[in-house]
Amino acid sequence: MTAPAGVIVTMDGPAGTGKSSVAWKLAQRLGLEVLDTGAMYRAAAVVALDEGVQADDGVALAARIAEEGLAFDWSFRPPRLLLGGRDLTERIRDADVNVAVSVVARQPALRAAMVEAQRVIGRAHPRLVTEGRDQGSVVFPDAVVRFYLDAHPEVRARRRVDQMRAQGRPADYEAVLRAIQQRDHLDETRVDGPLVCAPGAQRIDTSGLTLDQVVLELESRTRIVVPADFLTPSRAVQTA
Ligand code: C5P
Repeated sequence: MTAPAGVIVTMDGPAGTGKSSVAWKLAQRLGLEVLDTGAMYRAAAVVALDEGVQADDGVALAARIAEEGLAFDWSFRPPRLLLGGRDLTERIRDADVNVAVSVVARQPALRAAMVEAQRVIGRAHPRLVTEGRDQGSVVFPDAVVRFYLDAHPEVRARRRVDQMRAQGRPADYEAVLRAIQQRDHLDETRVDGPLVCAPGAQRIDTSGLTLDQVVLELESRTRIVVPADFLTPSRAVQTA
């Protein structure tokens, strides 16, 4: 069988579907790397918040990012995210970034720069699970497998609340649900790269599934399409 040029698996879907955790576990089981594209938009939000660039000025944001240089340090797992000399890995998870990022991510000029940057990363790291909102629809429409993870907003809010409480952070279910619905709305209604299940992508409703069940489902669907020689051999699930 001919070697595929790369093994790119895309994973899109709204916040709270467990994409990040699923991407990591899936990548580990298949022997692939992970690209967290949300982290890149979050870095742009940090530029708006910390460097005084207007959040709705996509051209200025893209220019500032190009000037400073946004890069992952792939020697870490997960890779750390650097803007110029500054390590933004923790900063991008702050509450003010959660709010600013959807505004920033609506800006076409910024999206164009991010799409290009993600394709460059895809060429340098062609064995990749890449997760975001537009990976299968815009950035890698020719990826070998494209997934769209979904779950009811109430389920996603409940998961987020449980996650926050487990980390010892206060969480109000109603407020979390509202924030999720608002973010969905902004992501779904933007002109450029809206959150959408691309034609040909495989939609998986994770509402009634555990994380491990989702991972195994995606793993088996990927193994159907990608020749075994190009993936880490299949192994039993560890139930530690
Ligand atoms: O995945 P995460 O929640 O970190 O993404 C943060 C935000 O970045 C999303 O709410 C969305 O607005 C934006 N995003 C995007 N396109 C991507 C990844 C994330 O617009 N490919």
